[in-house]
Formats: sequence, C-alpha cells, structure tokens
Amino acid sequence: VAKRDDVELHLYDLADDARGARRLQLVSDLRLAVAAATLEVFYQPKLDPRTGRVTGAEALARWQHPAEGFVPPDEFIPLAEHAGLIRALTSSVLRTALNACAGWRADGHDLTIAVNLSPRMLVDEHLPEQIEAALFEAGLPPEVLVLEITESAVMSDVQIARRVLETLRLMGVSLSLDDYGTGHSSLSYLATLPVNEIKLDKSFTLGLPYEPAALAIVRSTIALGHELGLTVVAEGVEEDGARALLADWECDVVQGYYYSRPLPASGFLAWLDAHADA
Ligand code: C2E
Ligand code: CA
Ligand code: CA
Ligand code: CA
Repeated sequence: VAKRDDVELHLYDLADDARGARRLQLVSDLRLAVAAATLEVFYQPKLDPRTGRVTGAEALARWQHPAEGFVPPDEFIPLAEHAGLIRALTSSVLRTALNACAGWRADGHDLTIAVNLSPRMLVDEHLPEQIEAALFEAGLPPEVLVLEITESAVMSDVQIARRVLETLRLMGVSLSLDDYGTGHSSLSYLATLPVNEIKLDKSFTLGLPYEPAALAIVRSTIALGHELGLTVVAEGVEEDGARALLADWECDVVQGYYYSRPLPASGFLAWLDAHADA
C-alpha cells in the first residue's frame, strides 16, 4: 500500500512540476514585460443607459506573450500578486491610463477613468501619495479617477486598508466596490468601507432580462445602492434588453459588449468620435 501511494504521489508531482515550470516561466516573462513596460492598457466605455452619453472608461491590462499569445488578466494578475510585481504593474497601468484620460479631456471629452486595484495594494500606506503624484503628473484633478477595489481574504490588515481608503476619499478620488454581490465583495463591506460606488458583478447582469433571480437581485441592489447614496454601475451589459431594464431601474452607469469591448487607446478614441456622431 505504501508503495502504491508513493507511485501516485510521484505521478502527481510530475504533473505539478510541469505546471510549476510553466508558471515560473510565465512569472519570469511577466517580470520582463513589466520592466520593459510592454503590457498594454485597453479601455472600455462606461455610459449612461438612458442617454447613451459616455461618462468614462475602465482601464484593463493586456499582456501579449511572445510565445503563448494573449494571456488573460485573470491569469497574469494573480501571478503578478504572488511574484511581488503587482505594485509596478499597477503603477504602470495607472500612469498610462491617466495620461490617456488627460488626452481625451484635452480633446473635449469630459470622461472619468477607472483603474483596478488589487486588494494587496490597499495595505500600503504610501498608496495615496503615489496616486496623488500620478494625478499631478498627468495634470488631472482627483475627481476624474475611480479606483475599483475588491475585498478578499488576503486583505490582511483591514485597519490599514480602511485608513488608506479614507485618505483617498478625502483627496477626492472615487472608490468603487467591484464584483459587487460575489464572494469578494458583499454587503458587510459596504457598511465598513468608505466607497461611493458599487459595481454590480456581471454574473447578475448577464441574466437580464429573463432570469427571475437576476431580475430581483439587480433591481433590489440598485435600490439599495441608491438608498445608501451610492452610484450604481452594472458591467456585462451585452444586449439592449438588459440595457433597457437597467435604464428603467435608474442604474446610473452601464458597461459591456453591447456598446464596446475593451479597446486599445487608438481604437477607443475612434469609437468615442463615432459614438458622439451617432
Ligand atoms: P473586472 O475588473 O471585473 O473587469 C471586467 C471584465 O469583464 C473584463 O475582463 C472585461 O473585458 C469583461 N467584460 C466587459 N464587458 C463584458 C460583457 O459585456 N460581457 C462579458 N462576458 N464580459 C465583459 P478582463 O479584461 O479579462 O479582466 C478580467 C479581470 O482581471 C478584471 O475583472 C480585473 O479583476 C482583472 N484586471 C484587469 N486589469 C487589471 C489591472 O490593471 N489591475 C488589476 N489589479 N486587475 C486587473
Ligand atoms: Ca473592474
Ligand atoms: Ca467587475
Ligand atoms: Ca473580476
């Protein structure tokens, strides 16, 4: 019996080693990509579902791996977190996104820019200073920046995180609770964190306009958000039926493939101009 266990353990280790080797390779490639600033930032528009007016954009990191092709952020963001690269990555995305936003605004588009922050970033007490410096360099007022945050079990020090978030709010930066309604972001955090926006997770929005549970959850979350004085955003709007319902329920902002997929900077600007003319 002991012998058979050894064999199984050995086979398992081999599979594990292969995964581990690919992971190590990816981490080392990611380190190079972050250092060489070859990661790209794509932008997805956020709009008023009633008027179609564009209110802002969300910045989403993109990694084109030289051998593997496109590696999705759901894969490389966790790698960056574990490899100690998330600070450098975030700082690069933030600066790129703020500069892009400054360009749109100089072109007459009055837009906000949303940047995703990994929960690990929130336990760094220097974060507010760094964000202030990045805003200053881009020549943008803090009101233009939205930080999308998720809670998670790795958020080791809730006290520090709350202090960091309060400082950011006092600076005038907006805070959005991303993936709202999932395991990472729930009601309990709303009561304790100084957010001024909730972003309903796409798993609910994707059930509109037919799935009864999605209908009930989305409608009541919008009402709850408004009662708490929060802006409510819905991501994952893929069809007009969903958009129309969200408009009826007075959801403030929507985002999704119905309007546009995330686009590279040049494509986003072209989309903006075409959308304004439509
Ligand atoms: P997220 O912040 O929840 O971003 C929304 C995701 O939904 C994006 O996936 C976006 O492309 C996708 N999406 C947008 N509209 C639709 C739609 O109508 N239908 C569907 N099915 N999906 C839609 P993406 O770009 O693959 O990013 C995945 C996640 O990776 C993000 O989820 C975010 O958690 C993380 N991420 C991306 N960029 C960054 C970054 O710069 N920093 C950090 N910390 N995380 C990032
Ligand atoms: Ca987000
Ligand atoms: Ca989300
Ligand atoms: Ca997510």
